[in-house]
Amino acid sequence: MEFDTISSISTPMGEGAIAIVRLSGDEAINIADKIYKGKHKLINVDSHTINYGHIIDPETNDVVEEVMVAVMRAPRTYTREDIVEINCHGGIMTVNRVLELTLSNGAKLAEPGEFTKRAFLNGRIDLSQAEATMDFIRSKTDRASKVAMQQIEGRLSTLIKGLRQSILEILAQVEVNIDYPEYDDVEEATNQFLLTEAEKIKTSIESLLQTGTQGKILREGLSTVIVGKPNVGKSSMLNNLIQDNKAIVTEIAGTTRDVLEEYVNVRGVPLRLVDTAGIRETDDIVEKIGVERSREALSKADLILYVLNYNEALTESDYQLAEVIKNEDVIVIINKTDLSQALDIEAVKQMVGVDTPIVMTSMVDQSGIEQLEEKIRDLFFEGTVSNQDMTYVSNARHISLLKDAKQSISDAIMAAESGVPIDMIQIDLIKTWELLGEVIGESVADGLIDQLFSQFCLGK
Ligand code: GDP
Ligand code: ZN
Repeated sequence: MEFDTISSISTPMGEGAIAIVRLSGDEAINIADKIYKGKHKLINVDSHTINYGHIIDPETNDVVEEVMVAVMRAPRTYTREDIVEINCHGGIMTVNRVLELTLSNGAKLAEPGEFTKRAFLNGRIDLSQAEATMDFIRSKTDRASKVAMQQIEGRLSTLIKGLRQSILEILAQVEVNIDYPEYDDVEEATNQFLLTEAEKIKTSIESLLQTGTQGKILREGLSTVIVGKPNVGKSSMLNNLIQDNKAIVTEIAGTTRDVLEEYVNVRGVPLRLVDTAGIRETDDIVEKIGVERSREALSKADLILYVLNYNEALTESDYQLAEVIKNEDVIVIINKTDLSQALDIEAVKQMVGVDTPIVMTSMVDQSGIEQLEEKIRDLFFEGTVSNQDMTYVSNARHISLLKDAKQSISDAIMAAESGVPIDMIQIDLIKTWELLGEVIGESVADGLIDQLFSQFCLGK
């Protein structure tokens, strides 16, 4: 297939400081050579080498960035086209500058997901692998990425291919039967074979559906807000969470989101400490912006950490805040337990409702932090706390296809059991085969492909 050479910024996971400008296509190496100065021209270097040099603006000869450039020639690449990756260590401004230079020298800006789309269209990966890549790119936790990785390795594809193979074998048997209708015992044998094999396929699809619902992946992290009166220890709590847990700083390059967001990974649960409208850490939000607006702002959060002071009795503003967040997912943290008790715990329970989890902490003694982290993990994995962006490794499209496939194989089984002529059952079997094929992209209409790939992040 023939394509333009595309270019885009792509940031590797967990390494916010390094960004890559990636080019793919026939002209990738030529375009890179126009803006690169190193020991050798890139056109002359071996495939799969990394080359040290500088990016220069060919019009002014200004040095833009010191870079390492990876050159990978087709077909042994992700897209099966020539790929050049320009590794920049400078900030987002320089990276954008390098991207612009590739564009002004002949590359076209890649659409979101276009690299992966090419890998798919050039036959490098199948559709379920492409989708797993998308989930992998977006997943922010080790737990999540492991599940996505396995799928990239084609586990799902292998399973589905096996199921389709079994269906083909049943169909072959059915063909024999149709060719020799006069032999009753053939029909009987075919029926038996069909029933046994179809049952096996149905069971496999069911267990796939089950792993599908367990393989939840969170793409963006739970947006988390810490609230409470001034001086109760919110900042200390925040710092503790960040220090304690590997903070993942992401720069989503090439998009309008140039703000840094902080991710902390709490026992496999990615929390996104949100800084929208300054509500991440809010001293008396109700006082500041009013009940209605604070309710609105806080309802956008997936999780609210409500901090109280063990050393101080409840006040009117505590009750106000409790009222504002009463329908949200809240963990109450009673902090400063190293000091003497002035807070009535029973009154707190009454205020927030008995179902709201309460954790006692002291930032001075460093106590209770483990319990808080466990509480967050439990709420998440029990599904109490979730977010809109939650998706499945076997994503919604897979699940719906697998459900349909399960239905049509069940139809085939029912028909066989009730003695429906075998050539009628063929239709249900073929349908199952097609539906399973759609999961791995072997019978997908073009429109669907475009729709799928447009969901990909930029630069992948
Ligand atoms: P914020 O206003 O809610 O963000 O509270 P800060 O985190 O800024 O803390 C206010 C004060 O309380 C600071 O002097 C902290 O050192 C102190 N502090 C925070 N947590 C604790 C705690 O668990 N015990 C004690 N004794 N002091 C704490
Ligand atoms: Zn503070």
